[in-house]
Amino acid sequence: MKITDVKIFLTCPGRNYVFIKVMTDVPGLYGVGEGTVSGSESIVAEAIRHMSHLLIGRDPQRIEDNWQLLYRQGYWRGGPIFAAAIAAFDFALWDIKGKIANMPVYQLLGGKARESVMCYTHAHGRDAIETEDHARSIMEQGFKVVRCQVGSHGAYGGDGMQGENPPVSPGTPPEQIYEPTRYLLSVPKLFAHLRDKLGMEIELFHDVHEQLQPIEAARLAKELEPYRLFFLEDPLMPEHRESWPLLRSASVTPLAIGEIFSSRWDCIPLFTNHWIDFIRTPPLHIGGITECRKMLNIAEPFNVRSAFHGAGDIGPVSQAASVAIGISISNFGVQEWCRYPDPVYDVISGIPEMKNGFLHVSEKPGLGIDIDEAAAEKYPYKRGFMPLIRRADGSMHVY
Ligand code: MG
Repeated sequence: MKITDVKIFLTCPGRNYVFIKVMTDVPGLYGVGEGTVSGSESIVAEAIRHMSHLLIGRDPQRIEDNWQLLYRQGYWRGGPIFAAAIAAFDFALWDIKGKIANMPVYQLLGGKARESVMCYTHAHGRDAIETEDHARSIMEQGFKVVRCQVGSHGAYGGDGMQGENPPVSPGTPPEQIYEPTRYLLSVPKLFAHLRDKLGMEIELFHDVHEQLQPIEAARLAKELEPYRLFFLEDPLMPEHRESWPLLRSASVTPLAIGEIFSSRWDCIPLFTNHWIDFIRTPPLHIGGITECRKMLNIAEPFNVRSAFHGAGDIGPVSQAASVAIGISISNFGVQEWCRYPDPVYDVISGIPEMKNGFLHVSEKPGLGIDIDEAAAEKYPYKRGFMPLIRRADGSMHVY
């Protein structure tokens, strides 16, 4: 069996996604994949186009060997763009193998270790009462875990966001202005309010989204300790790895990171030193199912559970792969979930079904998902960027 072609779909059904089909010389047999990196979709599409020349003519059944070929081919290996491009191929090869075996991918990974995949979604509001109302409506849908943010300028940095400068040129983002003090003061008040109104039992947590210095993050983790967070998400930037012991010693608030990691080697000291409780790196951004399973196998003896990134930028092909892994591993924690824009459901069929806060895995062979090529072409790519953030003195900050 041989790979004969790789079709790339850079499409914008409500937001940008990179989908692929890996075609084979067996009539009707192909695999679907995805390599979306939010804000960098066109760059990944070009990486996939370049790397596809190396795969054409090879056996799609040799998943590990093809992974190693794609990882090592460039000499300059690693990083999020290459990792997402490899993931696109890896998803497609697992999809092909499932179709050959006439089994869903989760069966190839060892079968169900649970019945369904527990998810969380996002509550936010301009003030604590609005966030409480939003969280209540999410709980009424059946969700057992809710991420809670507060602030009038959007989800991240909360009340620290203090306005914005207009775009420098058309088609580029405005530059938002952020200072941490109001943010640091508002988050413990939010959780005091939520625990008072919603009780202690519902699992609640907060995403810092790298907005703090390590000593500020340590203070926040300590101040949130009485509110029993499920975890504190991205309290540090990945660059601040040496500050995990500071954070760990400040409180017993569980800690999560990893949504912008791109290699299992990024994770090893965090696991072996017991610095974190949840790893957020989804298969899409670490090189696919093959690499993500290896990462979770390393995590397991260190009691680190999965909490895969799953906001709207993790498209439905990747979500299907996340669910196949989540349902089949022993150290599953939780899965992030957001409803996609409506046109996504025209382009992609077989999206995992959400019921009462739990995702259900497809029983179809492979990943159980397909791309309508004509529908994808109806929604051409729209150039976009991630938000730009500055401090009040004009210096650059991170989104
Ligand atoms: Mg996050």
